[in-house]
Amino acid sequence: MTLSKQFALIAVAAWSAWTPTTSAETNGSPQRTVVSSMSAARDTAEPLDTVAFDTAQLGKQFLLQVSYEQRGASWQDFMTSRSRIVTFQRRDNAVRMIEERRDPGASSKPLATIPIRSEMPDALLLDLNEGFDKISKEEDRTGEDYYGRVEQQEDYFLRLHMQEIVRVLRLESMLVLEQHALVDDEPVSVYYYLSPYRPNNEFEPFELRNLDHFGFYETYPQQVSGRTVLYATKFDSRKPITFAMSNEIPVRHRDAVRDGVLYWNRVLGQELIRIVDAPPGVTAPSAGYNVLQWVEDRSFASTSHIQADPLTGEILHAHIFLDARDLDGHDLVTQNDHLRYLVSHEVGHALGLRHNFAKGRTTTVMNYFRFDKSVRLGRLILSSEQGLEYDRKVMRHVYLDQPLELRSLPAFCTDSQPGCGPFPVPMRHSGS
Ligand SMILES: [Zn+2]
Repeated sequence: MTLSKQFALIAVAAWSAWTPTTSAETNGSPQRTVVSSMSAARDTAEPLDTVAFDTAQLGKQFLLQVSYEQRGASWQDFMTSRSRIVTFQRRDNAVRMIEERRDPGASSKPLATIPIRSEMPDALLLDLNEGFDKISKEEDRTGEDYYGRVEQQEDYFLRLHMQEIVRVLRLESMLVLEQHALVDDEPVSVYYYLSPYRPNNEFEPFELRNLDHFGFYETYPQQVSGRTVLYATKFDSRKPITFAMSNEIPVRHRDAVRDGVLYWNRVLGQELIRIVDAPPGVTAPSAGYNVLQWVEDRSFASTSHIQADPLTGEILHAHIFLDARDLDGHDLVTQNDHLRYLVSHEVGHALGLRHNFAKGRTTTVMNYFRFDKSVRLGRLILSSEQGLEYDRKVMRHVYLDQPLELRSLPAFCTDSQPGCGPFPVPMRHSGS
């Protein structure tokens, strides 16, 4: 028996567990994916070409989330792809992965044609590796200033070649695949999270009607009750939001990183956000942790990525990369002051916030600053009891449903709006 067949049999048990008869589903409460351990990792030198798919799951809704890391000769980049609700439908000797129609006028879009390698009484052995041959260039960090408020029919993809699945994890009901491939002859690692779609019924979407006064990343336009709606992306504020510090963050900087994360508790006025040490070996991107990753050897800048429920905007994963080179050439106190600002800025993105490049007095960490000003701001973050005014007002409004007085809200503008731009930086984390 080859290793891939072995895996297939293990996977049958895994996918069988997905049959929608769990008590959590029948009593109507949402079942969230909570990861207790990454120890389920199955590394193997042999390709893991097939995964068993329980035929009872054909036609059911799944959530597909994808991120990928490109490694060119002189550059690297990490990106997430637009999250999608998909179903699997059999056609002859293949299963097609179809994106759910996003509005009544749109057609169903086949995202993948997955060969059936063999059949068992209740399962199909699917060659996901062959079927997963492209990745969407759209991402969950989007907004009406980039995309508009109308669903576009055209999708853009990167075509994969020479794919090979190198790792399969099963985290409760989520299947996690890592695939290595080439895009235009450059290597890419692609991470797929595939799970039965179970929207969080406790989560209250926040509709953003415009970006005139404040900004969050938004879901793509969708039709709700006959009109177009865009929701702010945010975490569920009814439960703790936990970030995990990767082991690579040096001891001398860990307190500053903690301060930058916990700034947002003072902004919110409650202990909603927690920070833990990531377990050994856990790095971004992680399916189970919102990891703050220390980056010293990549060419991409400090940045933050989210993956959200495409229908409600609930953020399900955040991946934060901190570019340690921003700290070069300064004493430790200065480094940590700057780092405190940098972390608060990137965690702000991870909580869904857009940039606020409005000129004038400092009311937010979501702007760019000259290095000396960022250092002063990093010190202020340490002593500020309620956070900066813009951050406090919009976060409490969107996350905690507190009223917002627009007339007294500090000025706002964001990335792609006419006449709006950052301080003439470019700091290394520009664009993030
Ligand atoms: Zn930024």
